[in-house]
Amino acid sequence: MGMFDRLKEGLSRSRQALNEVFYMGGEVDEDFWEDLEDRLVMGDMGAEVAMQVTDDLREQAARDGLTTAPKLREALVARLSREFATAERDPFDDTPSCVLFVGINGAGKTTTCGKLAGKAKDAGKVCILGAADTFRAAAIEQLEVWGERSDTQVITRERGVDPASVCYEVIQQAEKDSADLVLIDTAGRLHTSPELMRELAKVVKVTRKRANMPVSVVLVIDATTGQNGLNQAKEFNDALELDGIIVTKLDGTAKGGIAVAISHDLNLPIYRIGVGEGLDDLQTFDATSFSRALVG
Ligand code: GDP
Repeated sequence: MGMFDRLKEGLSRSRQALNEVFYMGGEVDEDFWEDLEDRLVMGDMGAEVAMQVTDDLREQAARDGLTTAPKLREALVARLSREFATAERDPFDDTPSCVLFVGINGAGKTTTCGKLAGKAKDAGKVCILGAADTFRAAAIEQLEVWGERSDTQVITRERGVDPASVCYEVIQQAEKDSADLVLIDTAGRLHTSPELMRELAKVVKVTRKRANMPVSVVLVIDATTGQNGLNQAKEFNDALELDGIIVTKLDGTAKGGIAVAISHDLNLPIYRIGVGEGLDDLQTFDATSFSRALVG
């Protein structure tokens, strides 16, 4: 199964829902537009985006005489694609680069670090993984497993050590090894909290000060958390000024619209999407392909 199929399978629910609107065989009338808007909301896009997208599409349909399902669908794909921010720089391709991964527990930070390390290795880059989640011993061990899997050096310290000091060490090692890519996993909590944000702000500050390469702060967000994910993203962005996001678990029960909502609200680029638990299950984000997978 190709990577794109994985995503399409994951988003099949939202696609089915939208296809129902397009292929009901009825008139493109008031009910049609209401139904479309409802389904965009149900697909996790949020009320605001759903309304704007529906209004724009409706205007375009009237102006350009779009009446058939395929034409309306193509116009919707194009309209949704425009909701996504474009990245000025890709922190995983444009190296040297240091990336701090933030997000709540279970979002997929460690897994994503591991997948990216594997890709860097395949591309012949020198990558270093840093375990700055010193809150949970299991998190350190898990990153070590990913280090073995991707044949990548992992810098760790014992549990309880100040995460900012781990970052300092990681950067020192990266300089010694002339690393191309430095990926640092940080601690999450079950929910966002002021204490977590303070800790992470310090980690970001120390890393930025010490690193002799661009430092990006990337939020990893689980698409299956739906609209709650949007609130999380806002809190992290307010506290840490994110550079971009990675949306995980788009292979599962996610409806996918949350990616549209976050991009729209925070104007942040999506660098990658996670479509499974394995080393290869990470894709570069493409706005048109993603929108097409959402819509059909
Ligand atoms: P962290 O606490 O943020 O570091 O999250 P982990 O990396 O430990 O991931 C939590 C769980 O989500 C693990 O069981 C991962 O295998 C799983 N996971 C991560 N990314 C994906 C993804 O893209 N798809 C699926 N299906 N599972 C994922």
